Amino acid sequence: MTGTVYQIEVNPQLPERLERLEELANNLWYSWDRPTQGLFASLSHPLWEATSHNPKAFLKRADQKRLEATAENPVFLGALNRVLSAYDGYHAMPGLAHVHGQPFRADDLIAYFCAEFGFHESLPIYSGGLGILAGDHCKAASDMGLPFIGVGLLYRQGYFSQTLDADGQQQATYADSDFDDLPVSPVLNAEGGELRIGVELPGRTVQAKVWEVRVGHVRLILLDTWLAENSAFDREITHRLYGGDKTSRIEQEILLGVGGTRALAKLGLRPTVWHVNEGHAAFLILERIRGLVGGGLPFAAALEAVAAGTVFTTHTPVPAGHDHFSEDMIRQYFSAWCQELGLDAATLLALGAQPGKSDFNMTALALRGSRHHNGVSRIHGGVSANICRYLWPQIQPAENPMDYVTNGVHLPTFLAPEWFDTFERYLGIGWQERQTEPVNWRGIAEIPDATFWSIRQQLKAKLLKLVRERIRTQHQRNQGSPAHLDRLLKFVDPDNPNILTIGFARRFATYKRAALLFHDPRWLRELICQADRPVLFLFAGKAHPADQPGQEIIRRIAQMARRPEFEGRILLVEGYDLHLSRSLVAGVDVWLNNPIYPLEASGTSGMKAAMNGALNLSVLDGWWGEGYDDSGEITNGWAIKPVPAHLDEVQRDAEEARSLYEILQDQVIPTYYRTGPMGYSAEWVAMAKRSIASIAPRFNVTRMVGEYVRKFYAPAAEVGRRYAAGDFTVARDVARWKARVRAAWPGVRLLRLDQPERRLKFGNALRIEIAVQLNGLVPGDVTVEALIGRPGLSAGNGKLRRYPLQCTGGTQHGEALYTLDLTPEQCGRLEYRIRVFPAHTALIHPFETGLMLWL
Ligand SMILES: *Cc1c(COP(=O)(O)O)cnc(C)c1O
Repeated sequence: MTGTVYQIEVNPQLPERLERLEELANNLWYSWDRPTQGLFASLSHPLWEATSHNPKAFLKRADQKRLEATAENPVFLGALNRVLSAYDGYHAMPGLAHVHGQPFRADDLIAYFCAEFGFHESLPIYSGGLGILAGDHCKAASDMGLPFIGVGLLYRQGYFSQTLDADGQQQATYADSDFDDLPVSPVLNAEGGELRIGVELPGRTVQAKVWEVRVGHVRLILLDTWLAENSAFDREITHRLYGGDKTSRIEQEILLGVGGTRALAKLGLRPTVWHVNEGHAAFLILERIRGLVGGGLPFAAALEAVAAGTVFTTHTPVPAGHDHFSEDMIRQYFSAWCQELGLDAATLLALGAQPGKSDFNMTALALRGSRHHNGVSRIHGGVSANICRYLWPQIQPAENPMDYVTNGVHLPTFLAPEWFDTFERYLGIGWQERQTEPVNWRGIAEIPDATFWSIRQQLKAKLLKLVRERIRTQHQRNQGSPAHLDRLLKFVDPDNPNILTIGFARRFATYKRAALLFHDPRWLRELICQADRPVLFLFAGKAHPADQPGQEIIRRIAQMARRPEFEGRILLVEGYDLHLSRSLVAGVDVWLNNPIYPLEASGTSGMKAAMNGALNLSVLDGWWGEGYDDSGEITNGWAIKPVPAHLDEVQRDAEEARSLYEILQDQVIPTYYRTGPMGYSAEWVAMAKRSIASIAPRFNVTRMVGEYVRKFYAPAAEVGRRYAAGDFTVARDVARWKARVRAAWPGVRLLRLDQPERRLKFGNALRIEIAVQLNGLVPGDVTVEALIGRPGLSAGNGKLRRYPLQCTGGTQHGEALYTLDLTPEQCGRLEYRIRVFPAHTALIHPFETGLMLWL
């Protein structure tokens, strides 16, 4: 045929009775409400799969006749009504705020900035853990009815689609999204036109269109530069998530931080809490400083005011995860900013400086521009305190302001629908609202073992079915033979799910050590190839296209999977995304994670697995450091203890692989196959139940966001307001005071005047007299204190008691005299130390100045 081919898509008209499907398709409530997903799927399963579970695309392509017939189908209409009443009920509710307390005022608003958001496979603007966490954070904010808005970028191409060839060579393909198909809509301005914001980049102003996404109660706004009025180059800024070079990276981050802040302002929103979720968003700090300095506030006071209301969360201890830009780039992109503020470049560069590095570090900027900071697990909080210690150089990491909030996952999103009825029956109606209360989960023990096991087997069968389909597709595309396919799928039988199935799925970054399992192939073979106790391993995950070592790991797994002895027992499934993730975490028996300690900041996939009744086998790192519980008779999973830090890489891998094999050999495999008359292992079921009951209440995102509210959001709203009150009186005060203290500090000296006693009778007081050379400061500017405790305790240990010294006069040399009569509360050997640090009642953290002097 010849001539031009014109394309047209004919969209159906929704019958009146089905009109509200449109509303359901435009609210990400569907991303966690399983009945809503089921409703769409029931209209046409093939179309539901073909549109990748995307309700909006689904409605555009549905068949008109089918829709009309459905509009007359009482069963469907009944289901639709149930879904709509749940939807309306959810949106009419104030949320769970009443459960957790609502410490906010009517004008409070939390703005949550992140470079990626992962809600559902139908909105592909996420790459992995960070995005899923951000999505879950928004979902919980909605569930809890928080005053909350998300801010991000709308990428035309999200993360890549992954296919694997027969050698495990990863192919990355990128596809443009059709925004018409996404659950997003343009934000309109007062005149009814599309809202735009402008952001200055060197030599031009880039325009961005503002979109919005509804996530239950909350809104997410997304910026997009794909506009006719932008140059071809600038249109590409929001083209691809984590694509491109340093230039596109800095431009994306400027758009997110600066553009996002302007978009909120244009919408008439005035957030009182700003959450910088990972350093990518930290430029929002500069934009807000610009606003305040433009209003007449000195720079240092503006920084204090901005920081008071800002929360920063760091998500990785791996250096590559911390963005940095050359100073030249920063000078170039922010020269107009410096000019407008009347600042020299050095002042700006100092905000992102890190000792020994010449680059401008986004984590450093985020830390200097916030007064509420956290890592994402207890271990990671400690590691981050250490990484960031340069910001508070005289403070020991254990005492510096870096705190932690352990991650959690959104239970309705990741709990398999098969569990809901059973949970309701045994945990009681309203169990979801009580999900953070451990007692609520005691009922798990009451679920009859046979019922529990039957749900587990159903979930595994469903997973095996999906794996069969995926492996078949993969195999056919790679032109494998049918006989080979049969061998590959020998153990993947949904009709016979009685095989111990172990899952490993995550980003293939080297520190995750996906290939550790293959450290000793002979041992592995002995473990998993026993005829009566077969083991199936399912691997999935993507490696960033620029990460060659990560892709090498995929090839290595593929290579091992091809060995005759492992064929069919080790499978590598391509295209890891939220859909595959939900099936894997729900269907496997064991979730394996063996990162290099302490590089796994938190990890969340193991939490998803645990709440579905899978057992974790993991290195004691990230969240598992808190989640693993061997205190009772029955443990809730298995732990690989990290080897001592002095061992080298080779020894470490060998030792930890040995632990892994031993746990598989002595515990996992025998426990699973200790099957009783009913065909399952009672011991296994007991562990799985303990896993749910001990992990679900703690590692859900409602607990997490509740902690953010208590530790950070509520205090940030409060101090932000306090710093700003009356033309920023407190912010100005604190800034001036800090400058004075910093200038004087190098001359501050401590001198002990009394003769230290070595022995003391219990009940008597030890007299301590200290002369403090304040170098121009006044006694009110500092705290002098003694710390006392058992030998070996260090600062930051709660067992050390702190006693303030009082200023009781002056010495003849002009020093301030501080004294204390200390009466120890314990007998035996004790140690005490004395220190001085700047103190001001308006400080947000007592050690935020980073200054401290020990005697
Ligand atoms: C949960 C999840 C992750 C994060 O899992 P980790 O355990 O942190 O690696 C990544 N990708 C997808 C699709 C997920 O669902």
